[in-house]
Amino acid sequence: MQPAADNLTALPRLRVVLIETSHPGNIGAAARAMKVMGLSRLYLVRPQQFPSAEATARASGADDLLTRAVVCDSLDEALVGCSMVLGASARLRSLPWPLSDARSAARRAATAALAGQEVALVFGRECSGLSNEELQRCHYLLHIPANADYSSLNLAAAVQVVSYEVRMALLGDEPLAPDEGDYASAEELESFYVHLEQTLVDIGFLDPANPRQVMRRLRRLYNRARTERVELNILRGILTETQKRVRR
Ligand code: SAH
Repeated sequence: MQPAADNLTALPRLRVVLIETSHPGNIGAAARAMKVMGLSRLYLVRPQQFPSAEATARASGADDLLTRAVVCDSLDEALVGCSMVLGASARLRSLPWPLSDARSAARRAATAALAGQEVALVFGRECSGLSNEELQRCHYLLHIPANADYSSLNLAAAVQVVSYEVRMALLGDEPLAPDEGDYASAEELESFYVHLEQTLVDIGFLDPANPRQVMRRLRRLYNRARTERVELNILRGILTETQKRVRR
């Protein structure tokens, strides 16, 4: 077991992803929240205004994170290489997704990063949070259990709570169980889902005109299983053979 302080060497494997942030001040404040906890990798998906003097002002000394921030056109682009994706949400969903409170989610994130995996912590828009499609890219929905009558934190405040919990999980007294699985990355899972959906259409199981919740439920199943790379290859092989048969 490594001494806890050495665990902090896992911090560079964690990235914070902010989706379509509308207030540049929140981007700056999020950078500051990250830096005080030792996180350094900020990804911005279609920020409304960036770079921005207001973001720099609110970062107050954490502007190096803004300079190095990666601006992306899509969430998929921001998740490349990540085999553990946690989506922070103030709201629970109609199709329940595996749920973790911030503390246990941070332990999952820390455990994965310590095992050498790339981890994404994803935060939604100020006005509407994360869409269902974005949530479906996540292994877990991370919820900060707040006042049930007023549960939505400011974006940067949510980043602060989660960053703190990740740091505490890495420094904490409770040892983190080693996790050496070779898990599929976000982009490998996405191409598997495309392949799966196409095959289900080919065999007549899925009606593209009326897909209902089938793909969402299947995504939940394979995400929950934390599918490993070799397992995904077997599944893809099965799909390829199935397609060959029906197309013959
Ligand atoms: N009005 C939005 C909330 C936006 S707050 C909604 O209804 O979803 C902006 C972001 O901060 C959220 O998308 C989420 O990523 C994070 N956040 C705010 N409160 C949170 C909470 N209680 N738990 C987890 N994340 C939260």
